[in-house]
Amino acid sequence: MSNPNYNPFDNARAQFDHAADLLDLDQSTRDLLRQHRQEIHFTLPVKMDDGTTKIFKAFRMIHNDARGPAKGGIRFHPNETVDTVRALSMWMTWKCAVVDIPLGGAKGGIICDPRTMSLNEQERLCRAYIRRLHSMVGRHTDVPAPDVMTNGQHMMWILDEYETITGQRTPGMITGKPVGLGGSLGRTEATGFGVVFCLRECLKVLDINMYKTTASIQGFGNVAEYTARKYTELGGRVICVSCWNAADKVAYTFRKLDGCDPAELASIKDSYGSIDKEKAIALGYEVLPGDAWLSEDVDILIPAALENQITPDVFPQISKQVKIICEAANGPTTPDCDPLIQEAGIMLIPDFLSNAGGVTCSYFEQVQGNMNYYWSKQEVLDKLEVVMDNAFHNVFDLAQKKNIYMRDAAYMVAIERVVNAVKTRGWV
Ligand code: NAD
Repeated sequence: MSNPNYNPFDNARAQFDHAADLLDLDQSTRDLLRQHRQEIHFTLPVKMDDGTTKIFKAFRMIHNDARGPAKGGIRFHPNETVDTVRALSMWMTWKCAVVDIPLGGAKGGIICDPRTMSLNEQERLCRAYIRRLHSMVGRHTDVPAPDVMTNGQHMMWILDEYETITGQRTPGMITGKPVGLGGSLGRTEATGFGVVFCLRECLKVLDINMYKTTASIQGFGNVAEYTARKYTELGGRVICVSCWNAADKVAYTFRKLDGCDPAELASIKDSYGSIDKEKAIALGYEVLPGDAWLSEDVDILIPAALENQITPDVFPQISKQVKIICEAANGPTTPDCDPLIQEAGIMLIPDFLSNAGGVTCSYFEQVQGNMNYYWSKQEVLDKLEVVMDNAFHNVFDLAQKKNIYMRDAAYMVAIERVVNAVKTRGWV
C-alpha cells in the first residue's frame, strides 16, 4: 500500500517460509498455511450524494480459523490492494496465536477514500458491504473490527444492517463498537498501550532504564498517539512524530528535542491522525521532511503508520544510537532488511507481537459481550498487560534459548500453536 517496490503478501509469505524452514514443517502444512481458507472479492455500487453511482471494490479474507472464529479489521483506503488484505489476514492468524487468544485471522478492505466522502455516503458503503457479506460473518465464524480509517460509527452501521437482515440482536458479530453500545473500555488505548507494555519488558531484559530513553515515531494516528502517551507516562521522551498532511499531500516530521507532548499534539490533530502544521509551529515544533523521523539520534524507533517503511535503501539513514526497533504498524519492515537489523545488533520487537493489544482487547469485548457484563477500564488494561507481558517473555525466552532473531521466535511460537490446531483437527 505504501511502497510500490514491495508486495506485503510476498513479504508475509517470505517471513512464513523462513519460519517454516526453522520449524521443519511438512509440505502439506506449509501448503495449507501459505494460502487462505476463504477469499471474497466483490464490487459495491453506492449512490453518491450528487446522484451518481460509484462502484467500490471490496474484499474479505479468512486466512486460518483453526484456533477459533476468524478476526480482523476492515480498512478503508484509496490504495488498498488485494495483496495487502491477504497479508494482513495472514498476520492476524499469527497475531492471535502469539498472544494465545482463541481466534483465527481475517481482514477486510474497501478501496475508497473516506476523507473525500460525506458521512451519508460512508454509511451507505458500510451497509452495502455487510449486505453482501452477512451470510459469511458472525460471532462464531468471522468477526470484523475497525482498522485504518474506520471507527466505531462504521461498525455500528454495519451491525445495524446485519441485525436488520438477521432479525436478531447479535452485538458479538463485530467489535470496536462505541462504549455503551457493546464496546469495551480501553479499546482506544489498547494497541498503543500494548506496544509500550512489550517495549517496557524489552527494556527490562536489556537492562535499560526507560527514563533515560528517547524515541522517534512514524505516525500519529490511534496506535502512535497512545504509544506516545504511555511511553511518555512511563518516563520516555518522544523526540519526534511524523504524519501525513492531506492539504500539502506530503508527510512531515514534527520535532521537539526536549520532548513532544502527546496530549498537546493530539489536541491539534484531525480524526485521521494529521497534525495541523501551523498550530504545531506556533507551539514550538520544528517541521522537518516526512522521512526525518527515521534518522533521528534516538534509542528507539517506532514505525506506527504504514507497511514497508524500513527497507535496505533507507536502513543506512538509521542512527547508530538506535537500540530497539519496536514495530507498531503492520509490516513496517521489509524481509530483506531483517538481516541488516540483525547484523547491526538492533533488538526488534516484531509487529504481530507488539501491536497485538488491539485484537486482545477486541477479544475482551467479545468476552464481555457474551457475559453482558462490562469491566472497568482498569480491569481491561490490567488484563491486557498480563497478556502482553506473557507474550513478550514467551517470544524472548525462545529467542534466547535458540539464539535466534525475535521475528523468527515470534513466528515459531505462533505457527506452532496454529499447526497444533490444524493437526489436532485432522486438516493435515
Ligand atoms: P490511523 O489511520 O489512525 O493513523 C495512521 C497514521 O499514519 C496517521 O497519523 C497518518 O497521518 C500517518 N501516515 C500516513 N501516511 C504517512 C506517511 N507517508 N508518513 C508518515 N505518516 C503517515 O491508523 P492506526 O490505527 O494508528 O494504524 C497504524 C498502523 O497500525 C497500521 O499499520 C495498522 O494496520 C496497524 N494496527 C492498528 C491497530 C489499531 O488498533 N488501530 C492494531 C494493530 C495494528
